[in-house]
Amino acid sequence: MFLELNQLRGAREHFERRFEPAEFDPQDEDYRVAAPVDLSMDIEKVGTDAFRVKGRAATKVELQCSRCLENFEMPLDTSFELRYVPAIDAHTEPEREIAEDDLTTAFYREGSLDVIEMLREQFQLALPMKPLCSQACRGLCPHCGANLNSTDCGCRSTWDDPRLAVLKGLLNTDKEN
Ligand SMILES: [Zn+2]
Ligand SMILES: [Zn+2]
Repeated sequence: MFLELNQLRGAREHFERRFEPAEFDPQDEDYRVAAPVDLSMDIEKVGTDAFRVKGRAATKVELQCSRCLENFEMPLDTSFELRYVPAIDAHTEPEREIAEDDLTTAFYREGSLDVIEMLREQFQLALPMKPLCSQACRGLCPHCGANLNSTDCGCRSTWDDPRLAVLKGLLNTDKEN
């Protein structure tokens, strides 16, 4: 979905919209948008061709647990503030007004802001570094690969930690002496 910036009526405009997950196709590899995305944002024109965008987007994403590798859904609610400048100026005047505040600079092309692309970037930033289906996720058995959240494979009772085995070996040697 593209927002035509020259069609903004006032200096500041409020914008609210719901996007269906299908609008994010093809979906990212790291996550999948699993519920409608509710976006609420304010766009303010700054100077001749820059726009300040302050928004909030809420949805549910499906991620893969980094421990047990199962997919799970989690709510994502992200707030962001960005400055949009025309893409062409980024190349011709790279030092232009970028550092006057802490806002991340993004670029719009041919007068329009790619809202889906903006949301993708914000979701990417909001994702956890190591997604976990739950803090208590027990992960996969390192021995047989079973998902320890759903089965008790029994390996752990018979499987000796190699580091412990070394210690046991040392203890046995002590006894023999
Ligand atoms: Zn897990
Ligand atoms: Zn096992």
